[in-house]
Amino acid sequence: MHRFRIFLVFFTLPLLAAIGGMLMVAFADEIPWGYADDKGPARWGRLSPEFALCEEGLAQSPIDIRDAVETDLVAINFHYGETANNIFNNGHTIQVAIDAGSYIVYNGIRYDLLQFHFHAPSEHTIAGEAAALEIHFVHQDRNSGNLAVIGILLTAGDGEAGSAAYAPIFDNLPAQVGEPAAAGEALALETLLPASRGYYTYQGSLTTPPCSEVVRWLLLDSPLALSTEQIAAFRAIYDANARPTLPLGQRDLLRARR
Ligand SMILES: [Zn+2]
Repeated sequence: MHRFRIFLVFFTLPLLAAIGGMLMVAFADEIPWGYADDKGPARWGRLSPEFALCEEGLAQSPIDIRDAVETDLVAINFHYGETANNIFNNGHTIQVAIDAGSYIVYNGIRYDLLQFHFHAPSEHTIAGEAAALEIHFVHQDRNSGNLAVIGILLTAGDGEAGSAAYAPIFDNLPAQVGEPAAAGEALALETLLPASRGYYTYQGSLTTPPCSEVVRWLLLDSPLALSTEQIAAFRAIYDANARPTLPLGQRDLLRARR
């Protein structure tokens, strides 16, 4: 009996500690935040100590793109394959999870493509002007954990090539949060990019809590046109999931010389 009690102490205490730790992590992931009122961007930094950078950070994103310094920059090398259309509504945006194997190489570092998602209106602005939507292709360096995010501005127009490539996504937008993934057709990721790959770049942050300052931003300087109907379909679900711009401060904003 005594031995059994010792067994209980030795095995249940670490187990309880582990469960407690998992609960705390789960709880931290569930701190509610949004885009309006007392849960909105101006309040993010005060919702949790883990979100402090949202208020105190000096390298935050998005920014207004203006007065970029033109310079010689390396090309972004895309190695995009196919992925199943794993589309879901996570309560903050519509997101597509990417099957392993697609990546970019930038400045000699490989960044694996993890997911892409949308914001309406665009988060980055060009000389104060927002576009209808912005897409973020989120990549991660598996060694450092740092991110490289490709941003593309999406405008309403007659871009038939763009709208056809995006049709499998915009025809299957899940309106309900947590709705099971729609079984859309496979996506050829390369076709989701504009033909021109010039870009702006600066060092910044996640545009959502916890606003971690680990992102090499690569904002393509050619917008992509979607149909008016496609943009309306997204904005019927999310019409205001964009963080306002933050100051560039002491950071460099560069543009690849053509
Ligand atoms: Zn984003």
